[in-house]
Amino acid sequence: MQLADLLVRHALIITQDDQRRVIDDGALAVVGNHIAALGTTAEIDAAYTAARVIDAAGRALFPGLLNIHTHLFQAAVKGLGEDMPVEQWVNAVTFPTVRVIEPEEAYLLSLVSCLENLRSGATTVMDFMYSMRDPALHEAVLQALLDSGLRGRYTRTVVDAGEKMGVPQQMRQPAEEALAHAKELQARWTGAGAGRLDIGLAIGVIWGMTEAGLRATRRVADETDMTITMHVNESPFDNVMAQETWGRNTIPMLAETGVLGPDFIAVHCVHMTDEDIDLFARHRVSIAYNAVSNMYLGSGIAPIVRLEEAGLPIGIATDGSGSNNCQDMLETLKFSALLQKVGRMDPSCVLAQRALDWATRGGAQALGLADQIGSLTPGMKADFFLVNPFTPKATPVHDPVATLVYSAGQANVETVVVDGRVLMEGGVFVHLDEAQLLRDAQRAAQNLARRAGTEKLLEMRGKWRPL
Ligand SMILES: [Zn+2]
Repeated sequence: MQLADLLVRHALIITQDDQRRVIDDGALAVVGNHIAALGTTAEIDAAYTAARVIDAAGRALFPGLLNIHTHLFQAAVKGLGEDMPVEQWVNAVTFPTVRVIEPEEAYLLSLVSCLENLRSGATTVMDFMYSMRDPALHEAVLQALLDSGLRGRYTRTVVDAGEKMGVPQQMRQPAEEALAHAKELQARWTGAGAGRLDIGLAIGVIWGMTEAGLRATRRVADETDMTITMHVNESPFDNVMAQETWGRNTIPMLAETGVLGPDFIAVHCVHMTDEDIDLFARHRVSIAYNAVSNMYLGSGIAPIVRLEEAGLPIGIATDGSGSNNCQDMLETLKFSALLQKVGRMDPSCVLAQRALDWATRGGAQALGLADQIGSLTPGMKADFFLVNPFTPKATPVHDPVATLVYSAGQANVETVVVDGRVLMEGGVFVHLDEAQLLRDAQRAAQNLARRAGTEKLLEMRGKWRPL
């Protein structure tokens, strides 16, 4: 008999492996932070014993979902300014907040976002923080990721222009300075949380960059092996500005400056030409599809099916709580499928299995982590969650993948394990006081809205102040 740290027995295991095997009455043995073995409960019982055993009878076990684009601190502006197009929204809601947010507020609100990711089955998050006023803000978001127990990639933003488009001074910085700080964060934070965290680069938007800044970001990515992520063609405004500045569209400009590559994760990609898709395919970039945020801001429908047919890895993402207005990955999973069906007027263009592939294997491929996460096989990291079927929303259940994609909600996510560590059991976080955190975060958000002046968006509307 071999000794495991954790055994989960009697689960219906959806492996998401290459064959998409589903194991009935399955069991999984965790040693340290990885999966040592999985098979039927009889097979695993014959080989493993463990001090800690979870009886998962009646539950389905899925690999943890990947949320490959969010702004965790944006819980700060959840519910503040609604129903505006993106350019108006950033000026009315997020820019004023970024000007005054304090590290303690960024920490509390980011931690709330992290917990909702976990509650909705996400075990890996790629964050994109864009306030640069104070280096302590970056530390605050990183600390929240660390304390939440999530696996995470924190991306350090580069924005070195955009003044005339209203990008506040607190969001701009010479590229060399931002990139030097990114390298410093990489040296200090990569490997934190026993290897759960790493660091990447983020470019805000095309209209926030100089050509020199674009080239410098690529140079540092090559030197350091950090990935680059960027908001690309979320609205037609990106191409309008790229044309005005350089006489070419956004994606041709990114190709010209060497920014595109297999380590480039393009966020949104709603307004795409045939040339754009060809360039992406040639440079083997990955896509972060943000269905709910695109709907919320009325941005349009990203041609995800076409991008995938062009060979690009697709991951899904919530985007920040400012434009969603939550971090519910199960809701995003459902809408990721539905929005494509609407766009193509074809209910069969995205099957539930394909949407789950985006949320697991596709996201892992986009982040360059497909050898570690996104499916459950021996040797992979022990990131998974258990779904209890018995809520009115989900019951009755027949097909586990259809249930997860179309009818499960946060109330069904009962147990969450990241890196071999049980973070939530029976729907309760075991490593922090959620109720206290939510109250502290509410107070912090109220204070922040007052100082940022965003509270005035609530004039003429009801103002909810529960504390
Ligand atoms: Zn975003």
